[in-house]
Amino acid sequence: MRTQVGIVGAGPAGLMLGQLLHLRGIDSVIVEKRGRDYVIDRVRAGVLEPGTVDLLTASGVGDRLAVEGLRRGGVHFNFAGARHRIDLVALAGSPITIYGQNEVLKDLIDARIATDRPLVFEAEEVRIEDLESSTPKLRFQAQAGEPREIVCDFIAGCDGFHGVCRATIPPGAVTTHERVYPFSWLGILAEATPASEELIYAYHERGFALHNQRSPTLIRAHVQCPPDDDLSAWPDERVWSELRTRTATASGWRPNEGPILKKSLAAMRGFVTEPMRYRRLFLAGDSAHIFPPSGAKGLNMAIADAQVLADAIAEHYASASDGALDLYSDTCLRRVWNVQQFACWMTQMLHRFDPNDEFEHRTRLSELEHLMTCREASTSFARRYLGLSPISHDE
Ligand SMILES: Cc1cc2nc3c(=O)[nH]c(=O)nc-3n(C[C@H](O)[C@H](O)[C@H](O)COP(=O)(O)OP(=O)(O)OC[C@H]3O[C@@H](n4cnc5c(N)ncnc54)[C@H](O)[C@@H]3O)c2cc1C
Repeated sequence: MRTQVGIVGAGPAGLMLGQLLHLRGIDSVIVEKRGRDYVIDRVRAGVLEPGTVDLLTASGVGDRLAVEGLRRGGVHFNFAGARHRIDLVALAGSPITIYGQNEVLKDLIDARIATDRPLVFEAEEVRIEDLESSTPKLRFQAQAGEPREIVCDFIAGCDGFHGVCRATIPPGAVTTHERVYPFSWLGILAEATPASEELIYAYHERGFALHNQRSPTLIRAHVQCPPDDDLSAWPDERVWSELRTRTATASGWRPNEGPILKKSLAAMRGFVTEPMRYRRLFLAGDSAHIFPPSGAKGLNMAIADAQVLADAIAEHYASASDGALDLYSDTCLRRVWNVQQFACWMTQMLHRFDPNDEFEHRTRLSELEHLMTCREASTSFARRYLGLSPISHDE
């Protein structure tokens, strides 16, 4: 089989790229190692920047998002027993949208199926060959066990942090930079009416907590925990107790509680691959970079990479120019490092690194106070949280 772009991975990056290429009349085959239900059921991101919402809408996959996406004009920071609000709309002109990654994936998968272009689930032993040639190949075993070969002009490595694409690049051809944090996030999805419609970041002497609405009847919440913790150490009552304690305010705010439907542990890391390309293989999304989730950026950046890559591939076919493809990595990495810095700053400010370090604790509280009371600091936060470009000195 022959295609223009072989896409490895049907996460947000791969499916979005497939959709954008389709809209430009460019062929692709998407190969995913998991089943459709597994891909959709994985509970992960849920905070969409306005640029992501605009791109999904302009790409014809925004109908359900327009109806079901929850637009929220502010975010809260709970610390030292008080609740503070940053008004995103007043400071930066736009709300964020709460819409689960699994809903984004459902919409993108439905759109892909409607195009009749190939999307192969449950592909086994996916590998890339002939990367040194002008026609790299994707090989895998299809569901029935038959071997398949797809000859491609380009391969897009959209297969996440643990995928095969980055690992296929010869040693020394790319450099990786990594920061692993000395804590993890315990995450829950619970059936309960959210006690706050807007997202709450909490900093407490016992550590970080996050309370987010996923839908009018679902809560997504996280608490900082030791990196080597096991889920068995987190019975439901302990999760609720930590969430209550860490998000508590003197005015008596507390989360509503209900049955926990899902529980997971996630390591906290920042990771960047440079360059995001090797010959005709282009990395996009988590295969190239991971952001500590405090900044709510991973999904948005996966979608942003897909847009840059789709434009560059379209230019290649339209004008036989590889200028944009040659700039793909630099274009993405400029934004990646900027966002990495933001996500790492959020992580640093909101977590306890050493529970016995009172100096650290007091400076964190002071930094949060500054963020809430200094208009320039709140505005800068709002713009970066929304993924907007900084205000230049000339404005
Ligand atoms: C707990 C948590 C909370 C998060 N919260 C947010 C948030 O609020 N906002 C935000 O923007 N981001 C958030 N993120 C990050 C976001 O979920 C990811 O950045 C996003 O999923 C990246 O999309 P992707 O397409 O690059 O990779 P993935 O979603 O990982 O998709 C990669 C796909 O490739 C497939 N694959 C892997 N290996 C192979 C192979 N060998 N062959 C074929 N297919 C393969 C995988 O099965 C998967 O379907 C969060 C992440 C976590 C873990």
